[in-house]
Amino acid sequence: MSEKFDVIVIGGGPGGYVAAIRAAQLGLKTACIDAFTGKDGKAAPGGTCLNVGCIPSKALLDSSKHFHHLNHDYKAHGISVENAAIDVPAMIARKDGVVKKLTGGVSQLLKGNKVAFYHGKGKLGAGRKVTVTPLDGGDDVTLSADNVILASGSVPIQIPNIEFDGEHIVDNVGALDFDHVPETLGVIGAGVIGLELGSVWSRLGAKVTMLEALPDFLAMADIDVAKQAAREFKKQKLDIRLGAMVQSAAVKGGKVNVTVEIKGKESEMTFDRLLVSVGRKPYTDGLLEEDSGVSLTGRGQIDVDDHCRTSAPGVWAIGDCVRGPMLAHKASEEGVAVAELIAGKHAHIHFDTVPWVVYTDPEIAWVGKTEQQLKEEGIEYKTGSFPLAANGRALAGGQGTGLVKMLADAETDQILGVHIFGANASELVSECVVAMEFQGCSEDLARIIHAHPTLSEAIHEAALHLDGRAIHRGN
Ligand code: FAD
Ligand code: NAD
Repeated sequence: MSEKFDVIVIGGGPGGYVAAIRAAQLGLKTACIDAFTGKDGKAAPGGTCLNVGCIPSKALLDSSKHFHHLNHDYKAHGISVENAAIDVPAMIARKDGVVKKLTGGVSQLLKGNKVAFYHGKGKLGAGRKVTVTPLDGGDDVTLSADNVILASGSVPIQIPNIEFDGEHIVDNVGALDFDHVPETLGVIGAGVIGLELGSVWSRLGAKVTMLEALPDFLAMADIDVAKQAAREFKKQKLDIRLGAMVQSAAVKGGKVNVTVEIKGKESEMTFDRLLVSVGRKPYTDGLLEEDSGVSLTGRGQIDVDDHCRTSAPGVWAIGDCVRGPMLAHKASEEGVAVAELIAGKHAHIHFDTVPWVVYTDPEIAWVGKTEQQLKEEGIEYKTGSFPLAANGRALAGGQGTGLVKMLADAETDQILGVHIFGANASELVSECVVAMEFQGCSEDLARIIHAHPTLSEAIHEAALHLDGRAIHRGN
């Protein structure tokens, strides 16, 4: 006899566990199946995000930022420290503690909401039958449900001629767990993971070289932000080589030899460690029986419509395994929306207002369209900007690097995009997301009182500048 649920969620990352909790809140009998196993060998719901993604990377970014400031920036404040040292195992143990606290918290939340949790591999068959293969031993269990939500996430893309060995050539998992600071670190792909994890080890003393295939740096960000960020990261000694086509990499004598072609010229580089961060791909291995009725796209994503419905009736898919940005908050919002649709409520996700953040120092954050996109789409726009070097709070904190740039429709003044490079950009962008979600205009932000002295005044000034009336910069 198989146990019957209203909703079964396969995958317990920020997409899956959030969907399960919301479904349970709505009175639906819900199960969540997740295969992640923590370092202690026990179930660790929370997916990539909590275990080997967002949270551990931010823990290491924060630790390494403290170390970097201690060595480079505190002197200007009159604070001197001699022989500051980094204890890598202690830093990693702190990170692991943060992860354990949060994955334990998710287990408690699932329990508190009466979600039946299975630590195992779930496989969907015809008629929404789900087979669970437990990871802690025991026989397979068969479940069924009126609705199944697939939230199986993503895995790193591997490139030809480069094999991960988990020690010298690593993905995000390995680079979050080095037991010492490598003298030299090669990074293939100067995208979000490359920049964040490259920054961590660079701040701790590694000589970091990034090999990026594209000719432009951070092509997905606004061009002015990308330019300023490239200048700043160069100052921070991140050696970013653009137009670099890596041919192969091999481990020899404990070092990684990389063959790379840059601007038509082939060369050899040697690193102590190599991080491959060239994007992620949907993970659907062992998820679907042949008769599940769920179709995949040519790119291996689970094919869904705007409301996350798959080709099989009553089967939905969310998060990294479907189209759209691979971001935790996007996965969670889809999870909430699907649970509400299942419960017969109205739900809709605005992909136009999904914020992006790159947690470098300073941070990069944006919402909406870049100037390049507006040009490509032939949309008439106005621009306003404000440098953090003219913001009192930024200067007081020694954080005068960066800018806020705002783009608004030339005719209606509706905000089309806001791009921030600066301290706390991850928090500052929220105001802009709210404004855009309410279809606000730059004039709305220009007329809102911003506390003084705050970094948010730079957003106020960028909005004023858009109309040629910034107070603290020459228009
Ligand atoms: P996942 O988090 O990948 O979860 C999927 C879960 O499903 C996993 O636990 C997996 O084991 C399980 N699973 C898969 N198949 C099965 C099956 N058949 N049966 C049972 N369980 C299964 N995003 C941000 O928004 N902000 C950040 O700062 C950020 N930082 C990141 C840093 C790094 C280093 C990485 C790698 C990613 C980062 N991301 C960040 C991206 C973010 O982690 C993902 O977008 C997010 O985790 C996607 O959530 P998800 O629920 O779709 O999938
Ligand atoms: P990414 O898409 O951000 O960057 C990959 C980079 O690798 C790109 O610049 C690409 O041009 C380059 N590249 C691709 N193939 C290459 C090759 N053969 N040689 C050299 N360069 C190559 O991907 P990522 O950094 O691996 O991260 C994966 C996803 O995880 C991101 O897209 C993002 O959605 C998510 N993530 C988000 C955050 C965050 O929100 N702060 C942090 C980390 C990861």
